[in-house]
This record gives sequence, C-alpha cells and structure tokens, in this order.
Amino acid sequence: MASKRSAKAGGLIMGGGFPVSIQTMWKEPLAPGQLDAAARRIEGLAALGCDILRFAVPDLEAAKTLGLLAARVSMPLVADIHFDWRIALACLDEPIAKIRLNPGNIGARWKVEEVTKKARDKGVPIRIGVNAGSLPEDLRDREDRAGAVVEAALREVAAFEDLGFTDILVSMKASDVEETIAVNRAFAARYDYPLHIGVTEAGPLIPGVVKNTAALVPLLKEGIGDTLRVSLSADMESEVVAGREILAAAGAGRAGVTVVSCPRCARAGFDTHAFSARWSSRLYGLKKNVTVAIMGCVVNGPGEARHADLGITGAGDKVIIFKNGQIARTIRPEEADTVFEEELSAFE
Ligand code: SF4
Repeated sequence: MASKRSAKAGGLIMGGGFPVSIQTMWKEPLAPGQLDAAARRIEGLAALGCDILRFAVPDLEAAKTLGLLAARVSMPLVADIHFDWRIALACLDEPIAKIRLNPGNIGARWKVEEVTKKARDKGVPIRIGVNAGSLPEDLRDREDRAGAVVEAALREVAAFEDLGFTDILVSMKASDVEETIAVNRAFAARYDYPLHIGVTEAGPLIPGVVKNTAALVPLLKEGIGDTLRVSLSADMESEVVAGREILAAAGAGRAGVTVVSCPRCARAGFDTHAFSARWSSRLYGLKKNVTVAIMGCVVNGPGEARHADLGITGAGDKVIIFKNGQIARTIRPEEADTVFEEELSAFE
C-alpha cells in the first residue's frame, strides 16, 4: 500500500500516491568557492532524473554554504544533521527544503522542540533515519534485528508525535537485503508516514545495484516506498541512473529512455561499450518515452534496432542507423556520433 500521508519538500511531494522520487547524496565537502560548479552538477543530476539531493551539514558554516547553493538551484536540497540542534535551526533560516535528523541524537526534549517549532513555521519536513548499524544500546543485541530497527524508528516517531510534529518521513536502512525488506514491510503495515527506502552501505557499483534491486523491487511492487536512494560507493550520477532502472524494473518507471545494448563480442564492427558510455547522460536526459538500441553487428543488431525508435548497429565496416524500424542511413563509423545526434534530436 502506498503511503497515504505526504511530505512536501520545496516543489516535491513524497507519499500521498505521488510518483516515487529519486535522491542521492553529495559526496564531498561543499566549499563556498565551488557553488557555480555545484549548481551545474545539480543541473546534470536533474537531467538524469534526480528529484532531491541531500548534503551532510557538519557545522554552522556548512549550513550557510548550503543555503547559498539552495538559493541558486530549483532542486530541493536536504540538510543532514547529527547531534547539534543549532545547525538544524541555522538550516531552517536558509531556503533548505527538508531536514534529516533523529530526535534521539539531538538530546534534550527542549532542543528537539525548538527544531520542530521552527520546521513547522517554515513548512519544512523532517526525515527520521534509522540505521541497523547504529541502534540504541538496549536494542543492539536483540535477536530480532528487523524488530529492533522498527522499534528504534518508532521511538523517534513518538518523540516527534509527542511534540505534535507529524510532517515527517521515515527511513529504516540495513545493509542486508532481507532485513531491508522486513523492516519496511513491518513499518508500512502499521504506519502511513512516507517511507524513504534503500539498502545502506550497499557497496561498490555492481554489488550495490544488485542488493538495492533485490530489496527495492519487491517493496515497490507492494506499493511500499515513496522516495528512494541507491547508496553506492560510486558517483551520484550512478546512484540516480540505478534508481531509475530500479523504478522501471518495478513497473514504476517514469517517461524517458529505454536502452537496449549488446554485450559486444568478436563480431562487433562497432564499439557498443564506448558508444553507450559516451551517450549515457544524453540519453537519460530525454523526457519522452524512447527506446534506443545500440548493437555491435548484424547478427542481432538489425532485429533489435528494428524494434526500437532509434537504433544503431555495426555492419561490417559500416554503421547502420534505424529509425522507427526502418534503415534510415548507412554511414562510416567515424560519422556515428554526429549522425546519431541528428537523428536523436528528432525525439526531443
Ligand atoms: S549483436 Fe553482434 S556484436 Fe553484439 S553480442 Fe550479438 S553477435 Fe556480438
């Protein structure tokens, strides 16, 4: 069941039956002198399909810098805060769309109350994030680890509810696939707060994508999850593209490209790997539903390309471009990028 409640971060609504959003997290310290470059990178992330972006905010200076960046970009930015409620208050003076903070690591009730009061005034939601690797001491040794994670999340939820603050989202993350599924199912069965889902510390690109796919596809198919992050020891762009592909695999994909490409073998007259890598960002930036086939040779190339809106396949020492199932042009390999761009622009 999709969450009934929703939370609004800037122009983005999570939960309430709205499409599942994709997020990632900035991976370096944000320096005040790098805001132009950061804004350009955020534009690139938006083109790939990123809806919301989180930043660690370790001190008051970082809060100020994030505020300057938030004022320059349209994507909702999230401040991730641990321990110091004054940083949360500082972020709430900036145009920051969402806070991630756990009452449990802020400490005194009055500090949490100050934060919730200001968040309510500003209309800024707060995400509670519980991680299986950092549970409260009394829950750490429980045999039922999934139960312990849910219990930890419920304590954090209760701390906010006691203060009358319910503009919240919840994430419960584990690095184990089955545990991730179990905790989210258990929470969704009892509560209707929007859920941020993902496998945490999932590892490098390939194992990370596999674990996240194994955990998130079943949850999404059950209607559990309102926003997702694929945590990878890889770049943000890979996290966003992985998020898109996971949504598509769960039948919750958004409009955009479907890429069919061959693994390449000795028959290839055309380097599909290099071509796919060169065109990845451009293709994922397409807003319409377009199927693109990138194939190495005539064994499977023409067949796949004929079923695509746009196809390119090696054919001996030539390259063939297919459009809407028909051969459109036969060209030399060195012309491939220029001609592909000409043909692709017709689908925008
Ligand atoms: S399409 Fe051709 S090059 Fe690509 S894997 Fe198949 S046989 Fe090999």
